[in-house]
Amino acid sequence: VLEAHNLTKTFGDFQALNNVSLDIEAGEVVCIMGPSGSGKSTLLRCLNLLERPEKGAIWVDNELIGYTPKHGKLIPLGSKKLASQRTAMGMVFQRFNLFTNRTVVENVMEGPVQVLKRDKKASYQRAIDLLSKVGLEDQAKKYPSALSGGQQQRVAIARALSMDPKLMLFDEPTSALDPELVGEVLKVMKNLARSGMTMVVVTHEINFAREVSDRIVFMEDGEKQLEMPTSEAMNSDHPRFKKFLDAVL
Ligand code: ATP
Ligand code: MG
Repeated sequence: VLEAHNLTKTFGDFQALNNVSLDIEAGEVVCIMGPSGSGKSTLLRCLNLLERPEKGAIWVDNELIGYTPKHGKLIPLGSKKLASQRTAMGMVFQRFNLFTNRTVVENVMEGPVQVLKRDKKASYQRAIDLLSKVGLEDQAKKYPSALSGGQQQRVAIARALSMDPKLMLFDEPTSALDPELVGEVLKVMKNLARSGMTMVVVTHEINFAREVSDRIVFMEDGEKQLEMPTSEAMNSDHPRFKKFLDAVL
């Protein structure tokens, strides 16, 4: 589904990503781990071109993201075309970023109606279906501020799904939540994984990674230090990954 080659991103003279490649197959769940500042968020943000890497290329279903070939050269796409390509990747952040002045169901309909120009009534029904998928159909008419953090994050997941993404990117979706609310969000993500959704998840939730992910990528200093099937990774004696696991457990 997703192929990223040699992504490199610098901020000033700081190299946040150094030649990182990633290959994600349909239906795969890949967890990205690593210490703070190791480039995990930068990697996700580069994948959907919220940040433009200086080097490297990204394909989704074999379509090059962000550029179009013209006279043998690659020309950056305009923001409108880029926005449309970006809908292929649903993104869920640490903070939920819901529209506070819209109800829950309006938040979930917004993309399909405004961006995909879909019928309002059908989008409403679809939004309700998605909300029931994340266990929130009874909250549809409320405003986000009336919901708990875990509920808001589940709305954010439903909203990302409303665009029918080819894959979902999660950046520490539970790390801003009170501990007792983490489980309900992980459960929704687990169900999503079971339904066959392709997912790239930055998380330090070891149990989630162990149970749900197919592969672990461990980053440090902007580089991929380890990439292995989850069961192998958990038993790996890679010194830095081991040290990291011990620290988060
Ligand atoms: P965390 O676990 O804390 O979220 P991370 O692995 O997601 O960390 P990134 O957010 O990708 O790390 O940041 C990698 C490095 O790049 C950090 O040192 C950060 O300060 C730097 N960085 C990220 N975004 C910017 C920016 N817009 N401008 C300057 N430096 C940045
Ligand atoms: Mg981050």
